[in-house]
Amino acid sequence: MLRFNYSIRAHEFLNDPERAQKLRWMKEAHVSTLWIDGYFFGHYDSTWEEMVQVKQLLETEGFEAQVVSVPVGHPGNSLDPNDESLDLKIPDHWSYRIDRYGKPVHYCACINDAMIRDNREAMLRWKELGVTRVFFDDDLRMGNWGHEITGCFCDSCLAAFNEKYRHHFDRVQLTARLFAASPSEEDHRLQEEWQEDICQKVKRFLVETKVDGIQSGIMVMHDGCRYHGIDLPLLRQEIPDLLVRVGESHFCDKDFDASSEKLSLLQSITAHSKLAKGLELYSESTVFPANSLTPENLIHKIELEIAAGLRNIFLMSGTWFLSEPYWKAVKESYPLLSYLAEICDKQA
Ligand SMILES: [Zn+2]
Repeated sequence: MLRFNYSIRAHEFLNDPERAQKLRWMKEAHVSTLWIDGYFFGHYDSTWEEMVQVKQLLETEGFEAQVVSVPVGHPGNSLDPNDESLDLKIPDHWSYRIDRYGKPVHYCACINDAMIRDNREAMLRWKELGVTRVFFDDDLRMGNWGHEITGCFCDSCLAAFNEKYRHHFDRVQLTARLFAASPSEEDHRLQEEWQEDICQKVKRFLVETKVDGIQSGIMVMHDGCRYHGIDLPLLRQEIPDLLVRVGESHFCDKDFDASSEKLSLLQSITAHSKLAKGLELYSESTVFPANSLTPENLIHKIELEIAAGLRNIFLMSGTWFLSEPYWKAVKESYPLLSYLAEICDKQA
């Protein structure tokens, strides 16, 4: 059975004069779960009262209400590149992730005690709110997109790594070995240790923020893997009821149109689905920035997701609310999308 999900901002939705119409669009598009923006890199997106009010409102309207947070931060403005008023900075008592060249990564945090403590506090708040599922959106990872090993090279991460593996590297020495043009066998071993270390950080975050009664979920980026601290089998082992949103990217026509890009999208879905076998999987059916993926392409992307085995379709669009043509396209395609899911299930 297909389930459609979407995310909204509490304070905007409560004050939206077009709210009734938007609720109707979402219902007609068969959206059953709405994920309310919760805790974004150290800032609550809405007040407690707004969260309570919007949850009640959504439930009265027949939706399931859950929370989505952005725990670590995100490189650049992933919410709305046209809105310069958005505060993307992490709190002063958190630390920025430091890249291999010694530069802070804006706006992403080092996964350390302070940010884990604050994120756990947020989870306890959501428990009080009465939600049962919380997704951690990008960037619950240790590095930006790419096909290289990443991680945090801050002094404290380096010291902990050296102590754990009995090394004595400074950042320059370590990166020379991790990114050696012709790595020796010893360099390969070091690369393994480093990846293990950064994967343990993401695992630690999920384990220490886990709250009884709430299922946690990780949203993985396109091609996200151990290079970025994401080890799905390790996470599955530690958190058997983990929710996983696979990584897809391809949020705009420019990135989606070429056949090679569709193949790359499918490869990432398949890789993550295989590593997260047995867990509840969600799609990354994102349109970003606003209007950049046509409604026709969004439907085509959903068809690919369904064919690849995904049944929880997660629509997203940053802080912009999807406009009417998108909801109309989902509504009109729903019978065909359901039929496609049914055929695929029969053949599986
Ligand atoms: Zn660090």
